[in-house]
Amino acid sequence: MYKAKAYSAAGAASPLASDTIDRRETTETDVRIEILFCGVCHSDLHTARNEWVEFMPTVYPVVPGHEIVGKVTSVGSKVTQYKPGDLVGVGCLVDSDHTCPSCRADMEQFCPEGVFTYNSPDKHLGGVTFGGYSDSIVVDESFVLRVPENLDLAGVAPLLCAGITTYSPMRHWGVGEGKKVGVVGLGGLGHMGVKFARAFGAHVVVFTTSPGKVEDARRLGAHEVVNSRNADEMAPHAGSFDFILDTVSADHDLNAYLNLLGLDGNLTLVGAPEKPLPVSSYALLFGRKSLSGSLIGGIAETREMLDFCGKHGITADVEIIPIQQVNEAYERLLRSDVKYRFSIDMASLKSE
Ligand SMILES: [Zn+2]
Ligand SMILES: [Zn+2]
Repeated sequence: MYKAKAYSAAGAASPLASDTIDRRETTETDVRIEILFCGVCHSDLHTARNEWVEFMPTVYPVVPGHEIVGKVTSVGSKVTQYKPGDLVGVGCLVDSDHTCPSCRADMEQFCPEGVFTYNSPDKHLGGVTFGGYSDSIVVDESFVLRVPENLDLAGVAPLLCAGITTYSPMRHWGVGEGKKVGVVGLGGLGHMGVKFARAFGAHVVVFTTSPGKVEDARRLGAHEVVNSRNADEMAPHAGSFDFILDTVSADHDLNAYLNLLGLDGNLTLVGAPEKPLPVSSYALLFGRKSLSGSLIGGIAETREMLDFCGKHGITADVEIIPIQQVNEAYERLLRSDVKYRFSIDMASLKSE
């Protein structure tokens, strides 16, 4: 074991503060990573404040962070894919059983024995796993991802959660040239959805309730922007979409979007509203439409996404902050006051 610097929360009502945590020494198959940037995901805030107590209660102290980018500092004797100095990333997962049907299908995110990057039982040290608000992390090489050298690292970090969460369903549902694709909501997830849909060659329409986001949506790659509160703007799009990605976590009317799907169209949810959303079966019956969900992506697909981002020059739009501003960043996140993701410069942890 060695001591690592980190920022942790001691309880649901406690702010994040400087702390020292235990990390394991590298095993034969481990990679030790010096963390350079870590994105701030809404899940970090939910977990730090124990807001998912019903299905994933938080064990304190908690060190959030699952959008990790860094540099390899040492590797175990049996590591074959990475060497010191390599640029790498770690996302939401750090282990799985490798044998269940989900793992065999390269979808480790659905493994019943999957280990999340933070607040998951730690098989090595006991207790729970600690995430990326830290100066370093030790991860089995099968869950380490290579980062393209040509991309801005602060903007790469959010690809590890927000990026793969939007990339995976678009690939699954065949977003590409000749397809009309909608993105509902323009936040951390939505802005990545727009960039990917555009890069895949689709015709991209952004739905927003904020008139102030119209210009930005176009800059990010939208061909059209629709104010979803304006029925006159929604009506001409009825029955015309192949795919709609819904990134909204607040209560909203799904049927209004299901009506916009064409034959065999699909609406995929990646946000998680607190209460169940009513769905009209008629909106699905006519046109054989489907409604589905999606959760991050497997390791192979995350690697594919990073390669795609390298090739197309795609990163998240970020506001870089020192770790000392993370509590303020959480408050701003609650007000959607960020374009479009906070990325923590982990060099700021050295002064703690
Ligand atoms: Zn996340
Ligand atoms: Zn498995």
